[in-house]
Amino acid sequence: MLVSAKEMLTAAREGHYAVGQFNINNLEWTKAILLTAEELRSPVILGVSEGAAKYMCGFKTVAAMVSAMVESLKITVPVALHLDHGTYEGALACIEAGFSSIMFDGSHYPIEENIAKTKELIKLAEEKGISLEAEVGAIGGEEDGVVGAGECADPDECKMIADLGVTMLAAGIGNIHGKYPENWPGLSFDTLAAISEKVGMMPLVLHGGTGIPADMIKKAISLGVSKINVNTECQLAFAAATRAYVEAGKDLAGKGFDPRKLLAPGAEAIRATVKEKMELFGSVDRA
Ligand SMILES: [Zn+2]
Repeated sequence: MLVSAKEMLTAAREGHYAVGQFNINNLEWTKAILLTAEELRSPVILGVSEGAAKYMCGFKTVAAMVSAMVESLKITVPVALHLDHGTYEGALACIEAGFSSIMFDGSHYPIEENIAKTKELIKLAEEKGISLEAEVGAIGGEEDGVVGAGECADPDECKMIADLGVTMLAAGIGNIHGKYPENWPGLSFDTLAAISEKVGMMPLVLHGGTGIPADMIKKAISLGVSKINVNTECQLAFAAATRAYVEAGKDLAGKGFDPRKLLAPGAEAIRATVKEKMELFGSVDRA
């Protein structure tokens, strides 16, 4: 059964660790992440962007696949199925499709409109018992073709959104989606501390977890970050392992072309990446 992210994130905020959100792209991805979470006794959030959902034939297909897989693999750790950077329409569709958590990314709207739309979605989410993530201050880099500037969120605006009753809050603190550039100045801990002071025990979300140094991750967790999104890192690991398999000519040997063999090293690489992150975030044995 899929659960809301509320309970696992409240526990993480109080316990000074973070739960990883790992984005899924297909069946292999989902299976690799779920098996790793179960093995490590870690709660987990499966993130799905609207683009990835479209690729996987829609929100209903995704919700059905994940629910069935949790049952078939006998997964006992808490699993939340979460819409990543949802539009208002996408959020409505996910609530309908059986997602247990949604993110409404209203960061590109004026703050008043972000508040109005967030309020409406909170009401619907509460009725269904699902968690809701809101975003203040665009997060840099590219997410499904939307390029943000990597700004730092205004702590007062964060408080306004937090007070609406969202479950968790994503705030820009200089983080970027995708690979970080060489000259990246790092996370703005002053901004994070100021936001944390305003919003109290509200779990904060760190997007763009790929390539942020471990010491910065740990400091961010100590300042209230309770959910960390990882996407690009799994993609890079999968691609590198698949490339190595093909370059070694293994797809040409015997039945090495069998997709179950061809995709196995990539799936193993995702498992190793997820394990590394769960250990770094401190979510192991927290299920
Ligand atoms: Zn993001």
